[in-house]
Amino acid sequence: MNSNVEMILKQNEEIIKEMFVSLNNISYVNQKRVLDCFREKRVSPSHFAPSTGYGYNDLGRETLEYIFAELFGAEDALVRSQIISGTHALSSCLFAVLEKGHTLVSCIGPPYDTLLRVITGRGGLIARGIKYHEISPDADGGLNIQAIAEAAKNKPEMVLLQRSRGYSAVRRSLTISEIEAAVKTIKEISHNTIVLVDNCYGEFVETREPGHAGADLTAGSLIKNPGGGLAAGGGYIAGKADLIEKVADHLVAPGLGKEIGPSLYDLRTVYQGLFLAPHVVAEALKESVLAASVFETMGMTVYPRWDVNRGDIVQAIELRSKEELISFVEKVQECSPVDSHVTPVFGEMPGYDDKIIMAAGTFVQGSSIEISCDAPLRQPYLAFLQGGLSYQHSRYVISELVQLVNTWK
Ligand SMILES: *Cc1c(COP(=O)(O)O)cnc(C)c1O
Repeated sequence: MNSNVEMILKQNEEIIKEMFVSLNNISYVNQKRVLDCFREKRVSPSHFAPSTGYGYNDLGRETLEYIFAELFGAEDALVRSQIISGTHALSSCLFAVLEKGHTLVSCIGPPYDTLLRVITGRGGLIARGIKYHEISPDADGGLNIQAIAEAAKNKPEMVLLQRSRGYSAVRRSLTISEIEAAVKTIKEISHNTIVLVDNCYGEFVETREPGHAGADLTAGSLIKNPGGGLAAGGGYIAGKADLIEKVADHLVAPGLGKEIGPSLYDLRTVYQGLFLAPHVVAEALKESVLAASVFETMGMTVYPRWDVNRGDIVQAIELRSKEELISFVEKVQECSPVDSHVTPVFGEMPGYDDKIIMAAGTFVQGSSIEISCDAPLRQPYLAFLQGGLSYQHSRYVISELVQLVNTWK
């Protein structure tokens, strides 16, 4: 490596070292929380065995769901490979709970791209007679509590919060305290309103989860944070027992609910991935903090800045043109352990309105807890960098990106 680049990295690592200490502390607390759950449930090799057919009495699945409920501050959970993705998990919550004439309020402006389709697209909630309102984020990209309180007066059946910034240039990620304040405001005015939190990219970023802050339902993807880079797929939903029952009836069939759902494959990777997740999430956060610090030092605009309290693992970096964006994403792909020889291009992705370019040289297809960088084709040209199973790999990728950016000047 170029010694000048190494110097830039070292200088930035010096600036951000206290942030790393605090990330290690969070990771330590979460590691103990996970370990305690495993010990309490006496996890053993028999839990990893696959089940077949209907999957009745699948001890591995039942125990895993118990552990997720516990970790996410919930009464019950669904953790299944039959839940294909985060969108599928969240969409299932929306369709299971909301009925014709009900109202859904998004408290974070337009939600994540694929969910917007679920709500406003063909066959979506609005088409099924559900009313939908959005509350724009406040000036700094956070929650507009006053507007949320106002909306709660109409007693909507459900409100949606999203922990991550998503592909947004306007919204920022939410901390658990902010989610807690919103839940409190909503419940004081409208006790029965169900709070659904899109927890994608937020798991284990703090020592508490949305369920601990009063959320009724929380959902996410296993190929992001809670899969620890090992889970080969799947999603989870954690929440109040009666709501989980409703969602299970919707996902499977009324009357069957949670009772069936074979593991089919070895659950060892899901258990082991969950065990590793607190560490892996801290590694991913270190990548984001280093990237924020380094690229800001180089005069670029980054969201968020390195020293803020983060609600997710996503780091957005603003580039000046489509060409810069493409070469940035290409460089990440080039530094990936899988498909390093492949050139990413802008393409249509199911569920997204804009074309997307994605560097995803990952072991698990589309995994974004592994180092990945994606960008929608729209202005401002933001590259969203996230994941990284090891800080060493992330550091190397950032060093290569620094050299690339240097050639632009
Ligand atoms: C990834 C993500 C989703 C769901 O995406 P899937 O690709 O379907 O797992 C939803 N919301 C946010 C904020 C996300 O980051």
